[in-house]
Amino acid sequence: MPDITALAAFKDNYIWCLRQAELALIVDPGDAAVVQRYLQQQQLQLAVILITHHHPDHTGGINELKQLWPDAVVYAPALEQQKIPYADVWLQDNDRIELPDFSLTFQVMQLPGHTLGHIAYYSAPVLFCGDTLFNAGCGRLFEGSAAQMWQSLSRILTLPDQTLVYATHEYTLANLEFARWADPDNTKLADYQHWCQQQREQQQATLPTPLAVQRQINPFLRAGDAALQHRWQQHNAVDLFTALRSAKDRF
Ligand SMILES: [Zn+2]
Repeated sequence: MPDITALAAFKDNYIWCLRQAELALIVDPGDAAVVQRYLQQQQLQLAVILITHHHPDHTGGINELKQLWPDAVVYAPALEQQKIPYADVWLQDNDRIELPDFSLTFQVMQLPGHTLGHIAYYSAPVLFCGDTLFNAGCGRLFEGSAAQMWQSLSRILTLPDQTLVYATHEYTLANLEFARWADPDNTKLADYQHWCQQQREQQQATLPTPLAVQRQINPFLRAGDAALQHRWQQHNAVDLFTALRSAKDRF
C-alpha cells in the first residue's frame, strides 16, 4: 500500500502527497507553499504532479513548484489545456502513466461533470478523483450535465469495493447532513456520521474512504437504488441523481 499523506490547504482542501523513499508525487497542488513546506520538512524531492481539473484551488501552485523542481513531471487533462497554466504531459481517457520509481501505473479515467475535462487517476486500490466524488457527496455541476456526472460516478462504481477514494475536499460533515435528510431510511448513515464527527473532533481527515462504504452511505452513488427512487418519486437513476444534485445545491 503506497504511503499517502493529506496536506491541508485553504479552508477545506487536501493536497495528497504519495511518497516512495525520498521521492514525492503530489496531487492538485493549489498552494505551492503548503507543498514546499512539507517537502522540506520531510526531505523529499518532488518528482511528479498529477492534476485532475483546471480550478485554481487545484492548479495554483503548479508554476511555482515547477520553478523550484524543474525535473518534476506535470500531468494534466488534455481537454483543459487552455485553462491549466502548465503541464509536461496532456492526458486522455484510458491513458496509462508508468511510474517505475514509485512502482506504480496509473490509469486515466475521464470523468466529466464538475468540469468537462475532469480526469481521475487510478492505481488499485488508490483513486485520486479530484472534485468528482466526495465522502458522502459529489462535486457541483459547474460545466457538465447531471447525466454526464451520473455516468462518471457509475464508472467509479465499476471499481472494486476496496478502492480507496482520495477526494480533494473535507466536505464530509455537511454532506452527511444532506445525506441523512435525503436518505432517512438508510440505517448505515447515523453510525457513519458519528464516526466522521469523532474524526473531525480529533482534527483527523475523513478521507480516504473505501468505495464499499460510499456505495452504502453516499446518496449520489445510490441513485440507482429502487427504494430511494421510490421515496423521491423518480423513475430512473439519472432522474434521481438530477433531483438529488439540485436539492443539495439548495440545501
Ligand atoms: Zn473544482
